[in-house]
Amino acid sequence: MTSFPKKRKKLISDNGIDTRYRERIYTCPKCRDTGFIEREDGPAEKCGCFKKRESEILLEESGMSGILEKNNFSVMRTDMMDEDTKAHFLKAADLCRDFIASFDTDYRNILFCGTVGTGKSFLSACIASELLASYHSVVYMSAKTLFDNLADAQFAKGDAAAAAAIRDRIYNCDLLIIDDLGTEMTNSFVGTELFTIINERFNARKPVIISTNLELPLLRDRYSDRIFSRITGSYDVLKMCGPDLRSVI
Ligand SMILES: [Zn+2]
Repeated sequence: MTSFPKKRKKLISDNGIDTRYRERIYTCPKCRDTGFIEREDGPAEKCGCFKKRESEILLEESGMSGILEKNNFSVMRTDMMDEDTKAHFLKAADLCRDFIASFDTDYRNILFCGTVGTGKSFLSACIASELLASYHSVVYMSAKTLFDNLADAQFAKGDAAAAAAIRDRIYNCDLLIIDDLGTEMTNSFVGTELFTIINERFNARKPVIISTNLELPLLRDRYSDRIFSRITGSYDVLKMCGPDLRSVI
């Protein structure tokens, strides 16, 4: 005689129902949807799903989430480029793919420089999209928004707790992308903050990507020798070239 549990199991599967139907199914099995992973040797740490959601919220708040949707490797087009520009661009894109592939093992930074519309922000956004998809926390901000946020945190304008949280994310996210450095209003606060961000993230082996329209000598003039030497000494400098491609990619 077949036992009741066996009969029940057969009945369930005969009717096309998953036999695990009574088990709780988690969106994130890693943390069982709690957002935290317990550790034996210290306090619980944030799960990747939590950090990813935090990054997404920050992207939405900074108005950059649309940029990532529109700019990723799946929409990359090179057919309108001339041969030289195309070869140069594809080489840069390969380096970006390497950066993504080795993100968890190698510590690297990138400085994209070049004139407007040569693909700097596009490639930065491609990297951000891919790393977000693999549960990394990414902060992608224009230099202006970044320094405005830091000034709010510093001088406690508006919601101090929210400002402090943004400051924490800028310093501690897995990847920080500063877009369009040089378009912000540069002053001593910006110079000090930029050096502190670059230096602290360098000491913590946390990668940064910077894009700028400024030529390297102008970067030195605009900021300081110590910022310039830290960047040129520890960043892969990718000089983008060619005509304004924003209409074709
Ligand atoms: Zn999780």
